[in-house]
Amino acid sequence: MLKLTLLPCVFGILLTCWSQRNLTSNAKTHTDLLCSPLMDGRGYVNNGCNKAGFYLLNEFERIGLVPMNGWKNQPFYINVNRFPGACKIKINGTKKIPGIDYLIHPSSAPFHGKLSLTAISAEEILSLPFKSFPPKQGIAFIQPKQISRDTLLMVRAKLEKLARIQVPVVEYTHRKLTWSVSSEQFMFPYIQVFDTSGRIQLHKFKIKLNAELKENYEVSNILGVVKAIQPSDSFIIVSAHYDHLGRMGKNTYFPGANDNASGVAMLLSLAEEIQQQPLVKHNVLFIAFAGEEIGLLGSQFFVNQPILDLKLISCVLNLDIMGSGEEGITVVNGAIQKDLFERLINLNELTESVSVIKARGQAANSDHYPFSEAGIPAIFIYTMGPNKNYHDVNDKSAMLTFNKFDQLHYLLLRFLQSF
Ligand SMILES: [Zn+2]
Repeated sequence: MLKLTLLPCVFGILLTCWSQRNLTSNAKTHTDLLCSPLMDGRGYVNNGCNKAGFYLLNEFERIGLVPMNGWKNQPFYINVNRFPGACKIKINGTKKIPGIDYLIHPSSAPFHGKLSLTAISAEEILSLPFKSFPPKQGIAFIQPKQISRDTLLMVRAKLEKLARIQVPVVEYTHRKLTWSVSSEQFMFPYIQVFDTSGRIQLHKFKIKLNAELKENYEVSNILGVVKAIQPSDSFIIVSAHYDHLGRMGKNTYFPGANDNASGVAMLLSLAEEIQQQPLVKHNVLFIAFAGEEIGLLGSQFFVNQPILDLKLISCVLNLDIMGSGEEGITVVNGAIQKDLFERLINLNELTESVSVIKARGQAANSDHYPFSEAGIPAIFIYTMGPNKNYHDVNDKSAMLTFNKFDQLHYLLLRFLQSF
């Protein structure tokens, strides 16, 4: 028989196990849904981003969050180049798989027809001006294995200039394919082909590619508040972006599980907890941002058109890539916001939540950035681990372990409660 004195301890362990299972399984449920084909990669084909926004609007309401000064969503407008229709490429007569064998540059123009290529070296590309090219003739750049990162970036910038006004571009790369999203459209197509063979022959392309520049497309930041127990003017913001890259053609989408369905799942789990136990002295404003992947547009809009006085924001905690954590976490701005970083370190020593907490300096790599540029203390936390799927078709819900999700949830909760 269990001794009575052991009961609270056993109960505590059982409760922890039960709540851990619950937290992780809730996170998986949200992530599965946000990454399902129904949400179209939370981009701009089939209204994917807005479907996810609608889901979050309902979730915020279900949890019991209240609108921010009457705003439960904050609409804004973006220009976006999207790929809603055909995306088919045959190379030397063989059909290639989008997202695996090739990517379409996010700013690519549509193209229908055949394309033959002239190979051109890095040196030639870097020494403009070019002569004009006949139509249906493209240039091919084959990345040398030894090319330095800096040279590659310079070459790519030049190739983009060429596709913008002068000629179709094909880039052969042996590096991982990583997609993004753009608010402009070039005059010519730009295709990136994955090839590790080292023996690239110049190819003949047959392309059916639909692309359209959509202007003034409406998306929304989703907002909800948990009021402080004592009357307070101060706000702590917890944010995570819910948009991702969307579709590249009718049949291929980028699920964005780690980036950033996982961060949204963490935001929702914290919102549930804070709603049950509000902070004593600070209101907490939860924001699911749109437009992050296209250039931090949602957070920038929020800072430019604030619906609360920015001076009242005590701190911003931005969450992105919350699906692993086996190798610890990184705090962007941790090297600058020393007080916030120390709080995390001290709490982690107490709770033994994650193995390592690394500090980084300023970086414009997520939605904390417009806040810190406006002089508001803001940090961005991401997890580190073996999962390296980033901005690719394999960033799927099934690939996430959520191994450290509960521990991290607990650490972040204690962090918020420390104010
Ligand atoms: Zn992200």
